[in-house]
Amino acid sequence: MMQTRATLVCFGCGSSIPDGLNIYGQYLCPDCEGKLIHTNINELDYQHWISVCRKFWETIKIDLSDED
Ligand SMILES: [Zn+2]
Repeated sequence: MMQTRATLVCFGCGSSIPDGLNIYGQYLCPDCEGKLIHTNINELDYQHWISVCRKFWETIKIDLSDED
């Protein structure tokens, strides 16, 4: 039941590139961070990021309806 913090796995691409972001316990590598910021609606990657973000919110289980 021991969690290893040494190995960071990006929730966007599954790689272990260091120096990324840790968001609510989820890791985002710098490569994906840049993609996420610069991805436009017209780009093919957009659909990928929609599902990634959805998976991210489900993982951290934040109640998004709280602001309502
Ligand atoms: Zn990544």
